[in-house]
Amino acid sequence: MALYRERDGRRLHVKSKLMGESLVGKTFMESLKIAPQQRLFPDVNVVKIGGQSICDRGVKALPAILKEVVSNKKKHKIILTTGGGTRSRHIYSIGLELGMPTGIIAKFGSSVSEQNALLVSTLLAPWGGIKIGHDEITKLSNYFAQDCIPVMHGMPPYDYFALPVTKSRIPIHRTDVGTLIIANLIGARSCIFVKDERGLYTDDPKKNSKASFIPEISVKDLLARELDDLVIERPCLEILLNSEVLDKIQIINGLAKGNLTKALNGKPVGTVIYRS
Ligand code: ADP
Ligand code: MG
Repeated sequence: MALYRERDGRRLHVKSKLMGESLVGKTFMESLKIAPQQRLFPDVNVVKIGGQSICDRGVKALPAILKEVVSNKKKHKIILTTGGGTRSRHIYSIGLELGMPTGIIAKFGSSVSEQNALLVSTLLAPWGGIKIGHDEITKLSNYFAQDCIPVMHGMPPYDYFALPVTKSRIPIHRTDVGTLIIANLIGARSCIFVKDERGLYTDDPKKNSKASFIPEISVKDLLARELDDLVIERPCLEILLNSEVLDKIQIINGLAKGNLTKALNGKPVGTVIYRS
């Protein structure tokens, strides 16, 4: 390994492209030539089981969608992630009332989405459901070789380090974001969000009956619309826009039978948000 000492004799570097750089220089970072991102698991589908939208409906929604997961497992490799839902919202509101910082609120969110991962993996146990931690993501091949359906909670592990933002102390990176980051990390075949509405509308269809359905849209167009409310956490849009490995994400209604199967088979069900 080539070592290099600065002229003033002070700093000793290991010779590399990044030698001596601050790693924040705009011109430098833009000019840096890097290899395209490797797709680690290009045949794996990342599917988020919504917290509020699916898990919280209990027996009325969860068994049916899990049955559909199982019926697809021979044809498709699937890793499930879980949201938090109503219990997250409850503890968030108590925490916010009591002045809790963002990192504590995020930690609450992680533990609730983990409860749902335990619930989903336990329900799936007879068909290979296995609850995994974030560190296990590199072992996916092993789980699929053993005919498992890995289930991971969707909250990104920022916890106490959750990014504080102005106006609200609710962490902006929650389980939709965690799911999409994982899909991007592994270069997944697809990233599907199973929720309780047909997909994306111009406004929340539960609050505005005049909202119209958007079957497909590019991230840029969606950002330009500056919609007041979204079916997916807002930072997901930028994450998709910057992805080197994902072309789209899909939001489907998990309350209607067959939608997940269609999405896994590449059919344009629900809303597809394209990177470009
Ligand atoms: P999850 O439990 O999967 O995280 P959320 O309840 O957080 O799901 O988000 C899905 C909900 O977002 C939908 O049930 C819908 O009521 C609401 N929503 C808000 N804005 C929109 C929109 N523009 N289009 C569709 N749904 C929206
Ligand atoms: Mg949500």
